[in-house]
Order: sequence, then C-alpha cells, then structure tokens
Amino acid sequence: MNELKLAVLGSRGAGKSALTVRFLTRRFIGEYASNSECIYSKHLSLDGRQMNLEIYDPCSQPRQGKLSLTDELHWADGFVIVYDISDRASFAFAKALLYRIRDSHLAACKRVVESAVFLVGNKQDLCHMREVGWDEGQKLAMDNKCQFCELSAAEHCQEVVTMFMKVLRTITTN
Ligand code: GDP
Repeated sequence: MNELKLAVLGSRGAGKSALTVRFLTRRFIGEYASNSECIYSKHLSLDGRQMNLEIYDPCSQPRQGKLSLTDELHWADGFVIVYDISDRASFAFAKALLYRIRDSHLAACKRVVESAVFLVGNKQDLCHMREVGWDEGQKLAMDNKCQFCELSAAEHCQEVVTMFMKVLRTITTN
C-alpha cells in the first residue's frame, strides 16, 4: 500500500484543523480544541489504488515567527498552505512558508515538486471582510508554481475534498 504524507501549514486560526477535519470526516467542527500537534491517519482509495494517508496539522502550535520547518520539510510529500482571506497577516505568513519550502527544495537539489503544494485561501464565506484579493492569491501561487483555490471549510465540503484529492494525485503522479 502506498504511504502519503501531507502537512497542512499556515498561521494560527487560518483554518488548518477545520479543513483537515472537514476532509477526514466531511463535517465542519467550529472550535477544534487541541493543545498538541496532530497526525491523522486515513485509508483511502485514489483512482482505484489503496493509500494510507497521514496528515500533519500543527493544531494550536503558534508558528508565527518560527519558520524552521525542518522536520515538516523532510517528512512531508506534499503541503497544503492555508491562509484566511479576511486576515492579511495570514497571507504574509503563507507567503513566507511558500518561500521556505521552495528554498529548501532548491538547497537540497530535490526534484522540485512545487505542484505538490496547494495554496488555499480559506474562509471565502467571509468575503465581505476580505483583506486579500483572489488575484493576489492566484499570483502568489503562479509565482511559486503551486496550485491555488479559495474555499470555505465552513461551507464547502466538496471543494475541500477536491482540493485534498488534487494534491494527493499530484504527489502520486510525480
Ligand atoms: P487553525 O488554528 O489554523 O487550525 O484554525 P482552526 O481550524 O482552529 O479555525 C480557527 C477558527 O476559524 C475557528 O473558530 C473556526 O471555526 C474558524 N473557521 C475555520 N474555517 C472557517 C471558514 O471557512 N469560515 C469561517 N467563517 N470560519 C472558519
């Protein structure tokens, strides 16, 4: 069975746990109480192939200002980088994460698999409070050769599932 490892990263409150739990359970958990890092496991079928997926979600870990990411970069096969469209600071943090991932790939002379990175603008239901334009997210993704979408973990179940399946498919076809 194939093993896939995905890290869901972003600033605190961007919706990492909400997205992860939405994908795993199809439910939206408003307040996800956790004080530690979480690794979730799930068996899934991807295009007829059985996979064992592990998702790393740093949960309540405050990552602002701490971008070493060394463990995550070694561990993960792909990344979902989440920001909140109603919080510009979370976008700046997502940008710093993307640069960190790109630089580490270059430094390690790894086969660059930027496309196994998905930039997600979450909380699209809060577009009346929007601080980050769709075009800004799209441009950041294009500049870093990663996939991009805006969605709402609160309201869009199918979009969340589709986004995760796209990044998993990219990993398995690389
Ligand atoms: P994390 O720290 O990145 O894991 O963020 P959480 O998943 O814990 O979410 C932080 C807060 O944002 C919680 O109160 C969630 O209910 C809320 N939240 C997450 N996703 C959405 C969304 O798509 N829309 C709205 N309106 N709130 C969301």
